[in-house]
Amino acid sequence: MDWIDLRSDTVTLPTPEMRKAMANAELGDDVFGEDPTVNRLEAQMAERLGKMAGLFIPSGTMGNLTALLTHCGRGDEVILGALSHSFLYEAGGMAALGGIHPFTVPNQSDGTLLLDDIESAIRADNPHYPISRLICLENTHNRCGGVPITAEYTREVGDLARQYSLKLHLDGARIFNAAIALDVSAAELAAPADTIMVCLSKALCAPVGSVLCGDEDFIQRARRVRKQLGGGMRQAGVIAAAGIVALENMVDRLAEDHKRARLLAKRLREIPGLSVEWEEPPTNMVYLQFNQDSPISAPELVKKCAEKGIKLSAIGSRRMRLVVHYWIDDQAIDTVVKAFEQSLKSD
Ligand SMILES: *Cc1c(COP(=O)(O)O)cnc(C)c1O
Repeated sequence: MDWIDLRSDTVTLPTPEMRKAMANAELGDDVFGEDPTVNRLEAQMAERLGKMAGLFIPSGTMGNLTALLTHCGRGDEVILGALSHSFLYEAGGMAALGGIHPFTVPNQSDGTLLLDDIESAIRADNPHYPISRLICLENTHNRCGGVPITAEYTREVGDLARQYSLKLHLDGARIFNAAIALDVSAAELAAPADTIMVCLSKALCAPVGSVLCGDEDFIQRARRVRKQLGGGMRQAGVIAAAGIVALENMVDRLAEDHKRARLLAKRLREIPGLSVEWEEPPTNMVYLQFNQDSPISAPELVKKCAEKGIKLSAIGSRRMRLVVHYWIDDQAIDTVVKAFEQSLKSD
């Protein structure tokens, strides 16, 4: 391996086994529902997440958008975290394309939303207000440190949603990281939610694709929305084949990434000028703060490491996220720590 890229787990290239599965995939026209490989992936993912049906979607962003557009009509409101991916990083798709009104409530540092905050955000039936329709949670929570959200908490939010006849959607882009970290099944984490979106293209190494799961009626309606968004793909089994390998063979090994993230955090913590945000990184992400006494800023470190063939990304001038994944081995961790030590040495 001659590259080290810690910017995201989306940079993961498909494994040799995936490339082989892609080359040999049995194919058909998925818009006609005739691609056997896509159908298999959808069924396998739905079963794994304890839902009735699945829908293969080109990206996580389109998966969340498809879910939102299927759950909500124009002018309906969705309650979600102010640090959620759907609010921050999906180009405002819900508003731009669905006329959906976001009601953000603060994320706590553990990624959760306070039940009281959610409950106060739910609108009374009054013509002045939009209609509350949906609550969204994110698991693992990306911006809050890759932190997993427990099944108990998700159940409490699910109960609250049902009490007010709202739906609950889970942005489970990294739900398998959460399941491995909490040692529960992904199905248990997804059970309180009506719908869940999961990404195959992140830590699971597949090149492309996400799956949206829910009950049969929801998925049937979502299929039309996916078509409206231009996400109906023809011989999509070529990429779904890699998704099946991801689901079957890449989930259990996520524990290795989590272990390496803890190792990376432990070693970086010893470098003066840096603080690691979590005592122990909860999954595969390490968030760093550059202290006031740090000799260089985060963007300066990005530049220095780039010269050494290490790709990093800064969040502003004093924060950085490092993401560990399949293509980062112990050797790579060592190389990165040494590059940090050299770059942060004040001279
Ligand atoms: C990456 C991500 C998405 C979107 O997935 P893309 O495939 O990049 O569009 C949605 N939610 C979360 C939490 C993510 O990390």
